Amino acid sequence: MENRVIMFHHCEKDIYCFNVPEQCPICGQSLTGRRLEDAPVSIPNSFVDGHREKCSFLIKPTKGSFLSSHYSFFAGVVHNYIETGVQRDDCGWEECVCVSLVQPDMYSLINQWDLYLEQFSTADIWLPNRYESSHHNCYSYALTFINRVLVAQSKRQLSRTEFTERFVVPQTKRASRYITLYRELCRSYFYIADGIQAEEISSQF
Ligand SMILES: [Zn+2]
Repeated sequence: MENRVIMFHHCEKDIYCFNVPEQCPICGQSLTGRRLEDAPVSIPNSFVDGHREKCSFLIKPTKGSFLSSHYSFFAGVVHNYIETGVQRDDCGWEECVCVSLVQPDMYSLINQWDLYLEQFSTADIWLPNRYESSHHNCYSYALTFINRVLVAQSKRQLSRTEFTERFVVPQTKRASRYITLYRELCRSYFYIADGIQAEEISSQF
């Protein structure tokens, strides 16, 4: 997804595109000299390069489903648990959804992150023969780690449902809306939204 999505208003519509045209695609009027509030805005991309994110839970769309993982600080290595055990990927997570797990000022945790993650990953429960696709998988690996970190900070642990609903669903919803919009623009050059729908889409980003 190398193009940036841009939105501008005209004819009381929100018009999404990759390149702002010289004329409005609806009325044909020139778009130069428009009012400030009608100036094009860039829609933030919901996908990031996971190898550049610190201490985060990453989700990448794979064959229509989502795979999840942890990310290790400094080295740019993404840890994730699959049938063959814990993987340490230094590529392949360039386009994914990121849920940040620490505040930027949590220095001691950030500094310890790699060590915690490596110790955690070498435990027997993450051996390949323990893998089970529905309940002992990459998601369990990530959530168990998150809960270890929470316990170390004397915080309450999260259930799978709570973590999914509070942290994962909002990000994946936003990302899937972005994918839909992006695909639409690849097919048709403009995506025009109006009325309530326009407000919804704007507030969604
Ligand atoms: Zn117009």
